Amino acid sequence: MADYLICGGTSYVPEDGNTGAQMFASGEGLTYQDFIILPGFIDFTADEVDLTSALTKKISLKAPLVSSPMDTVTESEMAIAMALCGGIGIIHHNCNPDIQAQEVMKVKKYKHGFIRDPVCLTPDHRVSDVFEVKKRHGFGGIPITEDGKMGSRLMGIVTSRDIDFLEPNSDKLLSEIMTPFDDLVTAPAGVSLDKANEILQRSKKGKLPIINEHFELVALIARTDLKKSRNFPNASYDANNQLLVGAAIGTRETDKVRLQMLVHAGVDVVVLDSSQGNSIYQINLIRYIKSTYPELQIIGGNVVTAAQAKNLIDAGVDGLRVGMGAGSICITQEVMAVGRPQATAVYKVAEYARRFGVPVMADGGISSVGHIIKALSLGASTVMMGSMLAGTSEAPGEYFFSNGVRLKKYRGMGSLEAMECKGNSGGAADRYFHGEGDTIKVAQGVSGSIVDKGSILRFLPYLVSGIQHGCQDIGSKSCSMLRKDLWGRPLRIGYTFTM
Ligand code: IMP
Repeated sequence: MADYLICGGTSYVPEDGNTGAQMFASGEGLTYQDFIILPGFIDFTADEVDLTSALTKKISLKAPLVSSPMDTVTESEMAIAMALCGGIGIIHHNCNPDIQAQEVMKVKKYKHGFIRDPVCLTPDHRVSDVFEVKKRHGFGGIPITEDGKMGSRLMGIVTSRDIDFLEPNSDKLLSEIMTPFDDLVTAPAGVSLDKANEILQRSKKGKLPIINEHFELVALIARTDLKKSRNFPNASYDANNQLLVGAAIGTRETDKVRLQMLVHAGVDVVVLDSSQGNSIYQINLIRYIKSTYPELQIIGGNVVTAAQAKNLIDAGVDGLRVGMGAGSICITQEVMAVGRPQATAVYKVAEYARRFGVPVMADGGISSVGHIIKALSLGASTVMMGSMLAGTSEAPGEYFFSNGVRLKKYRGMGSLEAMECKGNSGGAADRYFHGEGDTIKVAQGVSGSIVDKGSILRFLPYLVSGIQHGCQDIGSKSCSMLRKDLWGRPLRIGYTFTM
């Protein structure tokens, strides 16, 4: 590779920029903004760049992208979209364990094209309720079931055409305007997507309800989804061809029950969610998980130093989550006076963890494709994102308008709002070591909103392509080559850093 630097018939090229080791030798903390990567030599196309990266010792992803376990970022819809695009979603735990386990199960049971949890109404709902659903969710074909839920007897369907000429505040009963069950075209449970497609085309309907032998609604297929349905060649699958999914848990005794439910639901990897991972609680939990569920992959964290990483690696983690104070909604460094600039944190932990084959996930502070490329260039195998993915249609929560702009809420898990979230035994407060009885909670995060970014299914391919182009400019044909160049000897090859 040193040959790349030889130009103009002379073998002398002056040293330029700094290597990773030189850049971090001074002990000064650097953020992603503090350096830029020098270009290398290109002899391949961007789409040849292989982004396959390890999430943990045993799980690798085709796209090194992970969605953060935050209650405004990752539930099943986000996790499904992330996995379809080659990444993975980590379901948050700011909810009761059974709800979190259900979200995991939805991902594991996902079959492309089938909507497994459509919004349903009852025959006793009013036309105004349909308008309300349309306003909130943006669609108009609503199955009508006996009790207004999935899994109950299908009674009919209401589509946009049924309400076209009615006033949005009409209190007409849906039983009066719906297409009744007897006039519906349905398909039996277990139908293939191809067959369902054929039925929809023949019937010229917009929606195809799938029912079981008791006439109960088990799924819905939408013509618009089929039209935009395409292949996801990079999707992250397990050995049974089910999408990969992760879930976050805390480090309390009660989290062992949560963990058991998640394992039964089929979770592939658990993230031990703590703002400061170097604790006796986390170490004991890692040991417990390794002895109780030896097959389950564990990502420990968060850490920012090699000393913190050492304790978790010794306890048996399969991956490390790196970042303290780097998140866009984070005020940890101001409030607690603890943390580390993210570029240094990623480099230092990755430099240590690679000796043990433990992959590193750079968590927080990613606000552009360039930051992803920088994190990967510093030794991270994957990046975890919150704000980059919030505001998409797959993020939890509903859109709202402010000054004519369409927004979705995005909040830190250490914000008072998230920690005091009522009606659950969730883990936002646990992440910041707050006990249930604590009357005073110290906020380490804030709450805000993010502009509508459209669908993850369009956004992630853009990120992937951006990373490939960055790697091309650097002269690295793969993520593993990026890291090899960083740690390789002699150091001054391929690419260098400059301040
Ligand atoms: P972002 O991608 O820059 O928005 O950062 C997301 C990351 O910030 C998450 O994955 C968490 O590690 C971290 N985080 C989430 N909530 C809080 C908080 O309230 N305070 C500090 N850090 C947080």
